[in-house]
Amino acid sequence: MTSSSTPRCRICGSTEYDLVSRQVAQAPEATIYRCRNCQIVYVFPIMTEEEETTFYRDEFEKYMLKRSGAGWKSPETHFRSYQAEGERRLSLVRPYLHADDALLEVGSSTGYFLDDLRGYVRSVTGVEPSEAYRTFANERGIETLATLDDWGARTFDVIALYYVLEHLRDPIGYLASIHGRLKANGRLLIEVPNVEEVLLTRYHIPSFGPFYWQKAHYHNFSPRTLTDVLARAGFQTQLIPTQRYDLSNHMVWMMEGKPGGMGRFANLFTPELETAYSEALKKQWLCDTVFAVAMVK
Ligand SMILES: [Zn+2]
Repeated sequence: MTSSSTPRCRICGSTEYDLVSRQVAQAPEATIYRCRNCQIVYVFPIMTEEEETTFYRDEFEKYMLKRSGAGWKSPETHFRSYQAEGERRLSLVRPYLHADDALLEVGSSTGYFLDDLRGYVRSVTGVEPSEAYRTFANERGIETLATLDDWGARTFDVIALYYVLEHLRDPIGYLASIHGRLKANGRLLIEVPNVEEVLLTRYHIPSFGPFYWQKAHYHNFSPRTLTDVLARAGFQTQLIPTQRYDLSNHMVWMMEGKPGGMGRFANLFTPELETAYSEALKKQWLCDTVFAVAMVK
């Protein structure tokens, strides 16, 4: 951890803050603050760049395994188990795709989402640091490179960024580099967890906060702060509320104070009930996910 001991907002530079939580999953040294100026909810201190490299190389899979029981999966298993996630994403992004678009996904893993997108755009390409997942995608004909820089000066009509932004130490700088890779009329498709979701802000579940706050999620976005950060990087943003977890998951959090309840009461809760619950959360922006379409200004 960095030796600097004064919390400072990495978005706007303010040192005025409110304490949000002293409990961060598997990180007793970290604290969560909300910036009084720009309202971003951030971790302080964050890992040094060296610690970060080690964390993602050696510890991240073990960390995820401990959290959710879902650790590293073989490329084939991963690709298969994410089919439903690809379809969920596709239903949201389709209105923003054109048949002649060149599309790049950053953090494309095995290419399960790009595989779904192939039928709707001219070309799909990926960036994925994991060599095993990257090789799998390339073998399936989805051209995938290790880093954004590996694409050289190439530009794109659409860039997709799912569950990446919250991990970055300098989200504005990164978004500015994405901005530079988009053509005129380019679109950035982005999803992040919503820090204003109902499990955190309305239901008082003692174990949820210490689970939700993660040392690797340096910034926790709300609809407002996501729009603000994108604007600082030169984007104009349209927000779409999204709910990924179901009523069973929320019931299990209330009953047992733990994750893993998805689908448990599927025989009891009708699709109509699930839809009504999800719509109620989305209407008030208490949903768990923010999907945004950001246009180059
Ligand atoms: Zn700030």
